[in-house]
Amino acid sequence: MLVLNAPLLSCLETDGKEFETYYQKAVEITGKHFENKRTLFNPIYVSDVCLADCPYCGFRGTNVGFKRKTLKPEETVREALFLKERGINCILILAGDYKHSKYVEMLYDNIKAVKEEVNPGWIGIEVATLEIAEYAKLREAGANSVTVFQETYNRTRYSCLHQVRYKGDFDFRFNAQKRAILAGFEEVGLGVLYGIGFWKEDTIAMAEHALKLREEFPNVKFRFSFPRLQLSRGQDRSCRTEQMTTSDLRKAITGIRLTFPQDSLVLTGRETVKFLCKSAAVVDTLGYAGQTTVGGYTLNVNGNNQFKLNKTYAYDYFINELKENGWQG
Ligand code: SF4
Repeated sequence: MLVLNAPLLSCLETDGKEFETYYQKAVEITGKHFENKRTLFNPIYVSDVCLADCPYCGFRGTNVGFKRKTLKPEETVREALFLKERGINCILILAGDYKHSKYVEMLYDNIKAVKEEVNPGWIGIEVATLEIAEYAKLREAGANSVTVFQETYNRTRYSCLHQVRYKGDFDFRFNAQKRAILAGFEEVGLGVLYGIGFWKEDTIAMAEHALKLREEFPNVKFRFSFPRLQLSRGQDRSCRTEQMTTSDLRKAITGIRLTFPQDSLVLTGRETVKFLCKSAAVVDTLGYAGQTTVGGYTLNVNGNNQFKLNKTYAYDYFINELKENGWQG
């Protein structure tokens, strides 16, 4: 186990005034490195075909109540143009988990088309099953970053929830960021799904994972995501181990900011507009009103969503609130 800095460990354990001292320090560090500029992003789901069967996910293989879809490059471009019009310059491309030469080809064609025809400032991908050469191909297509959620670092919980081939292999997934770095990516994302494991243990393990990577690759940049479990149609409630409260989440983002002052911390529309605007003091990357169905922005596909978002307001409302709170998108 690597030695973590004391603030991460103690700020997860403190409350009241003692925690607020850590929080203020995190606000100060974020201001120093990111000033009042916040990065805005949205996801594009290019395929909901998935061979895995994660019980918390609407795309799980055993959820047969909907027709699956994979976007053609021109459809993905349409989605990306919609986001461009919204003012989004950072796009995260996601697909379900499977492994087939056609899968890499499909991702390659979609990324390349978005890069050439929309040219956003940043294209991230959330894909865990690839080998080094396959990640390199997607880098060549124009992707800038690879995110892989370990879901939970607790091996017992992990193997209870993930039994299907690729997703079932904890170590293969754990090494995905390393394969992506070896393929030429300079930025990788890490995350857990809070609620299926144990939040303190998972936050510490995520930090250790990143520190271990940085020890080996000192120039790598990180994006840390903090999704809290939201259950949707076809999802199994019994996968929840605990309810991570808003105050627990504040502790997790504070601890990670204190440990990784210059890396990106990401929150999305799983949270409320109020919480996102408040957290922007410590979190530098935000997503809101993203669609978690394939073709959800422009194609009106009657698909299933991967998970439920806390979408009460329109995107413009979120942007206005951010500005009101002093943040520039
Ligand atoms: S979380 Fe990912 S791997 Fe698991 S069922 Fe959903 S899309 Fe597939």
